[in-house]
This record gives sequence, structure tokens and C-alpha cells, in this order.
Amino acid sequence: MKKSLVIVRVFIGVFLSGIVFWWYSFRFINNQVNIPRSYNPVSWFYEQKSEEEIEEEMEKEVIMNMDYYSDESFQKFLDDYHPLSQNYEANDVVKINSDFTSNKSSNFKLREKAAEMFEWMAWAFSNAFDFKARLTINSAWRSQKYQRQLAANCSAWRCAKPWTSEHEAGLALDLWVNGGNIKAWSGKYYQWLVDNAYKYGFHNSYQKWLEVDGKIVEPWHWRYVWVDLATYLYEHNQTFAEYFYENIEPKN
Ligand SMILES: [Zn+2]
Repeated sequence: MKKSLVIVRVFIGVFLSGIVFWWYSFRFINNQVNIPRSYNPVSWFYEQKSEEEIEEEMEKEVIMNMDYYSDESFQKFLDDYHPLSQNYEANDVVKINSDFTSNKSSNFKLREKAAEMFEWMAWAFSNAFDFKARLTINSAWRSQKYQRQLAANCSAWRCAKPWTSEHEAGLALDLWVNGGNIKAWSGKYYQWLVDNAYKYGFHNSYQKWLEVDGKIVEPWHWRYVWVDLATYLYEHNQTFAEYFYENIEPKN
């Protein structure tokens, strides 16, 4: 037999046994430890997932790995069980341009990124209604001292306890349109926000009542969570609390 033919046969033999070894080692490892399906090339091969399914899983992975616990994270989850640290004050709050505040006050503040994204959103809002409607801020960042004063005169399901308010985190805003609170689910202004606010990273925190969100419904209260998370919540029709307790800290 020709020498070159032997080399080719040996090469093919090694190659094939390599593939078989790779295949079985993955199946073996998969039986021993519980590898997430999305990491296992063998299961991908078997299941023939569609591009959308794979994309959806990767997107979920990104969202799951966000930081829901650090005070300064844009995704810091806040409720009675997940307060801010007692000495935390956001250190990057900036004043909102008075064109975007309900009484032309220049005392409203938000964390810098949230303020910037709000101004973009407010411009888009006015534009969508031919500059006949103005989206303004009626409450934004609150100091811990101020939230303590507020909470002292108000029930817990209406006003957040000190250290648990999204306003103290410098990420929440209460919105007015043309000088009045956004009161209802219905109505074109609220609908515009539902359809568009996520593109700017904002989410309407309290939509599904006490048992889901721990608060009454507040159509005016929007909170900056970053575009990726806001989009995810929008696409899955979930509130932040609903998502958090289903995926990050399941209650069971
Ligand atoms: Zn609010």
C-alpha cells in the first residue's frame, strides 16, 4: 500500500475517533453536572433551536446577570425587603433643565444618565403631539431625610418607607402632562409612554396592584432601569417586581 494512503487513513481514523470522543464526553459531562442547556453544543445540535429561541435565551442571560443589589446599580431592585444602604446618597445627581419641570422649578434632580434620557424622551413626546403637549417632572430625586418626612405621614402602600423608594435612588420620576398628573391607564399620553418609554430606559413600576408590586397603581411613576431591562419588561408585559420575584428571587 502506498505510504500516502496509509497516512490519509490514519488521519481519518484519528479524526473520527476524536469526534466520537468529543460527542460522548459532552454527554457524559452533561449527565454528571447540570450544565445549562444553552451552553451545551450537543443539546443545541439535537434540538435544532431556531435563531429567535437562541437570541431570546441569550437576551435572558444578559438580563439575569444584571446587578439588582448594589445601591448605585441602575437595576437596583427596591422594596421593603430590598432597601438602600442607610448611608447611601446617589453622588451623580444633576439638576433637570427647567423646560422639563412642572412649575419651571430648577430644583428637581435625577442621576445624570436618567436625566439625560428623560430629556430625550420629553422632546420625543412633545414632537409626537405636535408640541401641544408637554411632559414634565413633578417629583424626582428625594433625599433620605425628605423620604422619611413623607413616609411619616403616609401609609406604606402609598409612600415607600425610607431607604426603599426609587426616588431616593435618584432613578424615579413622577410625570405630569400639560400641568396635570397622569392619572389613568387609558388616554393617549399614557399610551404613548407605554409604547415608547422603554426605548429611553424607563419603566412604569407599579401597574399590577399590591399583591404583585406592593404598591397601588401609579401611572405617573416611571423609573429608569436602562434600555435593555426596560425593553425586556415591555416585551414580556411584566413589572419589575413581577420579574424580580419570578426570576431573581423566586418565592418558593
Ligand atoms: Zn413616584
